[in-house]
Amino acid sequence: MRASTIDKLCCPFDKNELELTSISKDLEGKIIEGFLSCKKCKRIYPIMKGIPIMNPDEYREFKLEAPLMEKWSQYLKGKKVENFRLIADDTGVNSLGK
Ligand SMILES: [Zn+2]
Repeated sequence: MRASTIDKLCCPFDKNELELTSISKDLEGKIIEGFLSCKKCKRIYPIMKGIPIMNPDEYREFKLEAPLMEKWSQYLKGKKVENFRLIADDTGVNSLGK
């Protein structure tokens, strides 16, 4: 998925702008891994194998995404993902694994 394509994407829920965090790219600069986050509803949409996962909440499985979020935790800027939303973690580092 190219960054220019992602630019045209908006949040399917509130049509708000999405912020892209790219984690890995291929040789052509296409984004292979990363995530999009909505500034308004705080939802986070992972990009896996170049494909953004933008399903409605009820079609998403947190169990499948949790390992990714853990792997990407350094990119979440100290926030945590709850109910597919990227929220500030005010409970500190001890909340890991709960
Ligand atoms: Zn949104």
